[in-house]
Formats: sequence, C-alpha cells, structure tokens
Amino acid sequence: MTIFEAKESTVRSYCRSFPDVFRDARGAELMTTDGARYLDFLAGAGSLNYGHNHPVLKKVLVDYIQNDGITHSLDLYTAVKARFIDTFQRLILAPRGMGSFRLQFTGPTGANAVEAALKLARKVTGRTNVLSFTNGFHGCSIGALSATGNSHHRGGAGVPLSHVSRMPYANYFGDQVNTITMMDRMLSDPSSGIDRPAAAIVEVVQGEGGLNAASPDWMRKLESLCRRHGMLLIVDDIQAGCGRTGHFFSFEEMGIAPDIIVLSKSLSGFGLPMALVLMKEELDQWKPGEHNGTFRGNNHAFVTATAALEHFWSDDAFARSVRSKGRLLAERLNRIVLRHGPHSLRVKGRGMMLGIACPDGETADAVCARSYENRLILETCGSNAEVVKCLSPLTVTREQIDRAMDILDDAFAAVLSKPLSSRSS
Ligand SMILES: *Cc1c(COP(=O)(O)O)cnc(C)c1O
Repeated sequence: MTIFEAKESTVRSYCRSFPDVFRDARGAELMTTDGARYLDFLAGAGSLNYGHNHPVLKKVLVDYIQNDGITHSLDLYTAVKARFIDTFQRLILAPRGMGSFRLQFTGPTGANAVEAALKLARKVTGRTNVLSFTNGFHGCSIGALSATGNSHHRGGAGVPLSHVSRMPYANYFGDQVNTITMMDRMLSDPSSGIDRPAAAIVEVVQGEGGLNAASPDWMRKLESLCRRHGMLLIVDDIQAGCGRTGHFFSFEEMGIAPDIIVLSKSLSGFGLPMALVLMKEELDQWKPGEHNGTFRGNNHAFVTATAALEHFWSDDAFARSVRSKGRLLAERLNRIVLRHGPHSLRVKGRGMMLGIACPDGETADAVCARSYENRLILETCGSNAEVVKCLSPLTVTREQIDRAMDILDDAFAAVLSKPLSSRSS
C-alpha cells in the first residue's frame, strides 16, 4: 500500500486513475519518479493552458521571489496587483469593449468566485432564485454546488441544495426543441412555480458536463431572455476561458455582453491558485469586506498572470495558433470516430476543448485506462462519464497532438474490439 492509500482521505480522485507518483513537468509532459514520461491531456482540468513550468512565467516568478517580492498581503495594494489590473485592462478588457468592468479578487478557487458572483446577483436584484443548467458544473461549496447538476457531487452536500431552478441547456432535448422558448414560457407564467430569478449562470462550453457547446444563437437568446426577465447573465468561464476555445473568453464573437464573468483555473497561467469575478460597474454594490477571504489575490499568481497576458495576449498570434491546433485535433478525433465507430462515437466540444462521446461510461473509462498504459493522460466527463476529454495545454506541439492521437486511436481499436462486458478495465 502506498503512503497515499494508507494516509490520504478516500476523497482523492484523479490519482485513482493515474496512480504513478509524478515529480517534474514541462510543457505538455509529466514525468514520474521512475522516469516515465506522460503526455498530459488532463492539464490540471484546464488549469495549465500554457503548459507546465512555462520558461517565461517561471523566470519572472523566480526573480520576484529572489527579490523578496511580497507573497501574502490580504487585499492590500501591491505593486504586482496594480500591474496585473493594468495589464488585464489594457490587453483583455479594453480591446473587447469591456473597459468599464470592475475586478473582484476572491478566495483563490473557482468555487469561491462562483459563490461571490451568486451572492452579488442576489444582493443586487433582491431575488433569491437562480437559473442553472442541466449538466452544469460550478464547484463544490454549497452555493456553487446548488447550481451544479452532477448527482455524485450534490450527494456530498449533506444539506438540501436550494434556491436554484434547473433548466435544460442548449440542445438538451436535441436540435428540434428550443429550450429558450420553454424557459420564456415558464418565466412569464406567474403560476409556473418558478420564482423570479436573480440570474442565470451558464458555461458556454460545459467542461465537466460533457463538452456540450452552446451555439452563438442560443447564447444570444439566453441573453435576451435574461434582459426580458430582469435576470443577470453570469458566464462561468472558469474552464472554457483563458484561451481554451481559441479566444480569451468563450463567448467572444457571439455578440453577447454578460453582466458577470468568473475566471479561475488558467488565469494565473502557471497553475497557481487565483480567481476573479468581473462585473459591470453598476453591479459593484459590495460593502467593504462583505465577501471576504484570507487569500484574496495571490501575489505570485499576479506575477505569472501578468507575464502570461503579456506573452500570449499582446497580439492575436497565440489565439490563432489555438484555433489552428483545435482544427488539427478535431480532424484527428473525427478520423478516430470514422475508423472505429461512425455510428456509435461522436466528436464534441469547441476550440481546444474537444473529446469523443462513447456509447457508455465503461467504454470511455477503458479507453482512458488503455491510453494511460501507453503514457497518455486524459479523463472522462459527461453525465455518465461517457466522454473521453482531450484538454491538452494550448501550447502543446503539433507533434505531441499527433502522438497523443495515435495512442488514442490504438486505445479505441483495442477497447472496441472487446465485448462490452469486459470493457471496464
Ligand atoms: C473547475 C470549475 C469550477 C470550480 O473551480 P474550483 O477551483 O475547483 O473550485 C467551477 N466552474 C467550472 C466551469 C469549472 O470547470
């Protein structure tokens, strides 16, 4: 028995599928203590968009620490916080017509930023109910969990999860059912039983929920629905943001203007904890310290986040490379589907947030297990964990994509040649 199995809580999860002990990492590769080298298509569940230990980010962080740069400061003004805000304003907000947004640094997890966003929406509107969507994932603290769909996570709450009305996500009932019309009808009917919502919280591409991607048309209609019923539109861009879809925000070029946006995961650029709530200026009605936290604003994360913005987002070259690698990945995934299951498999997602939906969770699980044997790390997502999810760093090379897709192709071939009953590895 390893020390982890002996001493670490049974709550541990990813390590059960990938039980090696890892020691160092570079770019899209993870190395074990035994010297084995893995391709990392898990990438911290989307926290490592710029790869492990990116040399530019590493250097500024090491220099900062060498010079006794401040590490912890509650929410005191620091030089590196000023630089981050200025850089984010200049490179991200202003060019996207969002120059008047305010920034709130919350505790450093995605869940904490979601809590803050939901609290703020309820405070500003004076309403308690919130709309969230089937298969949505927003974190595991009670408020964020209430908005989350996953029954396994919800089951851990220990208290009733309330003040949320669940609505069907885009295409939840297939292409023929317009879920916006349905919601509009329910929200317009004073006897539908749906309390007037403060906000709708939505992922533009559902990360944990199965790589379901909302269309620009659905997002625009959701925005009009929000306006019509006095609800705020909260986009949870924790996983789909920071370049994952080929643009900094997942909703860019959709012609929508969310009221509140939450970011975390890859925001620091280096895998350091950091979370941010962006809000329209007029919504910033917080009293000082009303949503508080000891680790609001992590100065090391400010340093690497600023360097990541300057390095990757000063012009459009990186975003273009993400879109082009996304096309390569989609092409390779489509080829796997054509070869191994044109009727049973399906490519899902958008940008570099792509995967293959299998008929069931056992198949997807076996494909991931087989890939791991061949040194490729990827996880499953979706209602029944039936989607094999490719979430490589965005800095992955074309050669690494090709190598990973060869491994994945072999895994599908091996798994689908076995009868279903023997698939769970
Ligand atoms: C990961 C994630 C969260 C929660 O972030 P934590 O840091 O794990 O609390 C919330 N929303 C989305 C879309 C996520 O992918």
